Amino acid sequence: MAEHDVIVIGAGPAGEVCAGRAAGEGLDVALVERELVGGECAYWACMPSKALLRPAELLAEVRRVPGAKQAVTGGLDPAVVLARRDEIVHDLDDAAQLPWVQDRGITLYRGQARLDGERRVRVGDEVHLARRAVVIAVGSGAAIPPVPGLKDIAPWTNRQATTAKAVPPRLAVLGGGPVGCELAQAWASLGAAVTLVEAAPGLLPREEPFAADELAAALREHGVDLRLGVQATRAQRSDAGVITLTLDTGDAITSDELLVAVGRAPHTDDLGLETVDLEPGATIAVDDRMRVTGPAHRDWLYAIGDVNGRALLTQAGKYHAMIAVANIMNHEATADWDGDLSPRVVFTEPQITAVGRTLRGALDAGIPARAVDAELGRTPGASFIGRDAPSACRIVVDEVREVMIGATFTGPAVAESLHAATVAIVGEVPLRRLIHAMPAFPTRSEVWLKLLDPWMP
Ligand SMILES: Cc1cc2nc3c(=O)[nH]c(=O)nc-3n(C[C@H](O)[C@H](O)[C@H](O)COP(=O)(O)OP(=O)(O)OC[C@H]3O[C@@H](n4cnc5c(N)ncnc54)[C@H](O)[C@@H]3O)c2cc1C
Repeated sequence: MAEHDVIVIGAGPAGEVCAGRAAGEGLDVALVERELVGGECAYWACMPSKALLRPAELLAEVRRVPGAKQAVTGGLDPAVVLARRDEIVHDLDDAAQLPWVQDRGITLYRGQARLDGERRVRVGDEVHLARRAVVIAVGSGAAIPPVPGLKDIAPWTNRQATTAKAVPPRLAVLGGGPVGCELAQAWASLGAAVTLVEAAPGLLPREEPFAADELAAALREHGVDLRLGVQATRAQRSDAGVITLTLDTGDAITSDELLVAVGRAPHTDDLGLETVDLEPGATIAVDDRMRVTGPAHRDWLYAIGDVNGRALLTQAGKYHAMIAVANIMNHEATADWDGDLSPRVVFTEPQITAVGRTLRGALDAGIPARAVDAELGRTPGASFIGRDAPSACRIVVDEVREVMIGATFTGPAVAESLHAATVAIVGEVPLRRLIHAMPAFPTRSEVWLKLLDPWMP
């Protein structure tokens, strides 16, 4: 039996950051990974999806700028886009990640980890003991909804949809959240005829309605057939391989592949949770220090990243990792800015970015909120991005406290601007102070002049 100060289960972004920070604190750290160091994010989620989206985004941007537009004489080359995607995911080989682990003195165990009672982690035949803490960072996989026939047709999950070696002629997408929208647009841009089915009346149900509408218009412009407010009732695949997805409207969609993107399920079904009185298969609830809730576990068991269900985003997992390590070091840190308020980006064209509350969300929470709307496209800086690019924004303000509590920006390349809003919101910067933050000219950040105008003396 080997002993370590900390054993981290899962080497996705949350587990890696946790292991790295704990090792940086001088602790003896072991990291257990059953697949690839880097996790879902690096090989089958964030990184490959952005690799598939970026070429079309760039092409659209160039086409909006006269002078550069004339240099575009062809379309995307799907084979080259897919090859570049393979390069970005290192052909599903994690060798490039290993020096990072070794340089920090982290012990890497390969295999499926299972809890084996308090502070004990079994990997294969060996049991390892954690002197200070076990951190569960096992992430999540695609959830498959109980649509009759769906499991039998071997649908695509994010794994196939991010690593496919050829463009399917017809692709059906189930789910209009961030993953469904991103991958629908990516494959449409590469030439697939895409139909997206969403049960809710609109896309991105948690975001501001104007942002969802803008994205719906853009997807339609990309040729995506949107079926909103409809339910899938049956899926079948013929002997010839053609998929038929029947809808509650009576319509049927035929496709060559079907991507399921309706949510995630935590990787907790085979983790030995029953040995520490937790429920296998369930999300692992934590307190704000990332300690697994329940008196028996509070001081040694942590859960970070997707598996705790607070915010299924890489940045949230990394944030959880920082909080967990601080607590393992007895530094008393609590997470107060994740969950639904986390900064989030849908990397479509246009990008949809948001942080904090929507107006509806704020009013529902009983906050005396008001919204200020503006158009990024009306700033002088937008001239260089392309004036015909849709780009709306809204800030949501707590009228009593006079601070921002939410912001949404849409448009080309707005992801990099989101952090300014995040800083102002998390820092609770008074609006009457924020008006002194001068935006550079000519940038689209001048939209802040308009957004903050009501608080000018
Ligand atoms: C298509 C897609 C695109 C996305 N794009 C973005 C994006 O642009 N930005 C963003 O912030 N988020 C994005 N996400 C979400 C993001 O991928 C996840 O939030 C993130 O990967 C979670 O990190 P994690 O470390 O918790 O888990 P994971 O990345 O899932 O890593 C968990 C690791 O644990 C390992 N593991 C599991 N069980 C065991 C076990 N018992 N023993 C040993 N190892 C185990 C797994 O093999 C895996 O390597 C996207 C998701 C999808 C599906």
